[in-house]
Amino acid sequence: MPSCPNHTTDTAATTAGPRIEPRWSMWVEGEARPAAAGEWFTDIDPSTGEVLCEVARGRQADVDAAVRAARAALPAWAGLPTARRARILYEVARRLERAAEELAQLECVDVGKPLREARADAAKSGDAFDFYAGLADKLFGRTIPISPQYLSYTLREPVGVTAHIAPWNFPLRLAIRSVAPALAAGNTVVLKPAEQAPLSCLRLGPLLAEAGVPPGVFNVVPGLGAEAGAALAGHRDINHVAFTGSVPTGIAVMKAAADNVVPVTLELGGKSPNIVFADADLDLALDGAIKAIFTNAGQVCLAGSRLLLAAPVYDRFVERLAERAGRLRLGPGLADPDMGPLISDRQRRGVLAHLETGRTEGARILVGGGVPRDPACARGYFVEPTLVATTNDSRLAQEEIFGPVLAIVRFDDEDEALRLANASQYGLVAAIWTRDLDRAHKLAAGLHAGQVFINDYFSGSVACPFGGMKRSGFGRERGVEALEHYTQVKSVCIRLKG
Ligand code: NAD
Repeated sequence: MPSCPNHTTDTAATTAGPRIEPRWSMWVEGEARPAAAGEWFTDIDPSTGEVLCEVARGRQADVDAAVRAARAALPAWAGLPTARRARILYEVARRLERAAEELAQLECVDVGKPLREARADAAKSGDAFDFYAGLADKLFGRTIPISPQYLSYTLREPVGVTAHIAPWNFPLRLAIRSVAPALAAGNTVVLKPAEQAPLSCLRLGPLLAEAGVPPGVFNVVPGLGAEAGAALAGHRDINHVAFTGSVPTGIAVMKAAADNVVPVTLELGGKSPNIVFADADLDLALDGAIKAIFTNAGQVCLAGSRLLLAAPVYDRFVERLAERAGRLRLGPGLADPDMGPLISDRQRRGVLAHLETGRTEGARILVGGGVPRDPACARGYFVEPTLVATTNDSRLAQEEIFGPVLAIVRFDDEDEALRLANASQYGLVAAIWTRDLDRAHKLAAGLHAGQVFINDYFSGSVACPFGGMKRSGFGRERGVEALEHYTQVKSVCIRLKG
């Protein structure tokens, strides 16, 4: 097996980077405000470990103020002619397009992701506003023919004030994914971005206001999960919680919302199988496997972190994969490397602990497996791109690592591939690489996953519903389906005279 060459940094092309304000306030009732208690937390640049800036540390009082503002703004926003609401949201998409470079650079330094990945994310951030703006005036009810004596029909109404708790890996896109349908359906919103990377979400407030979103309709309360996050999830005056994050936090959020009989949608973790058959276009599958695990240093909920490889192509495919993984350039996001750092020292320690467990379980580390020795990576939270040969029942193949670690498992036939793919607590995504159409459709039907990619990875768009099965969560974001969560159905029945 090839050994791991030293990863290199390429700082020659480093972009100067954005000018970061030293302090970032909350966004409540259409204005930037410090937290009520006047406290701040530090936001760290994961490429260097240095403090980027301070951010308002929202707590219960701040969440209360944001929910009050959202409640007060609700009647006017819900009552706006739907075509007018749509026009405002289309304008939000245009503002996001214009701000794309600024937002990309902010996420690049805040998350540590390579600049071109941050640019690709920012370029798509307006898509959800365009898509749901187009649906804002098409939320039709139905008429129900029960008898000539009655006129029965349904109305679709906003649910009210919706709470959105977002993670740090794709801060803006994952926040917008649920905020855009909520606003389009006439709800008002309180967003709690992740404390590790809140800056792009904080820029959303002014951008929405400039597009014409009235004060109070969209509010952002940054803060720590156990403080602002818990206060929002357990708030008595919210009507829905859209949560994206880890399984344990999702469970805590669901319990807090249950006390107030508030519904939740949970977009949680994954250990998605990426299944390569011997008849696949192997060049394409190789590119797909690399992209599936090393994008955003593997910190992607739908990462293809479990590679199931057909026995006849196993050795050659692993050899080529190892050669590609060993060549990846690491570095700070602004240098636009192939892979950036992890989000935090805590995250890096977690990934390294998983690798230690793997070693004690007898997994074979083929490439990487540690911290890069390159001095240019010394200050950030880097981990080498890592390939591990293991079995499907090992912890490395069963637990979400959320880092650049690919667990590789061999299979003999199609039945075994399906059995191994489904032998997981998660059910977010699965991918199949094959030229056999029958096999592809049969497996797509049999896989326990909310979405299946065939001969591609990360396919789809805002128009395609996205969500999990099993411990990956429930409910669907994106697509027309998301609007189900942000509207409630009222049934009206009129007894007619005569
Ligand atoms: P996390 O659960 O630690 O945090 C997510 C959000 O929840 C953050 O805003 C955090 O501040 C908040 N939070 C933390 N404790 C809270 C509490 N007690 N009450 C309310 N809110 C609280 O997750 P993370 O580390 O930020 O993200 C990584 C996880 O998210 C991974 O498991 C990943 O798979 C998952 N994820 C899923 C999707 C998806 O679409 N399914 C997308 C991205 C990430």
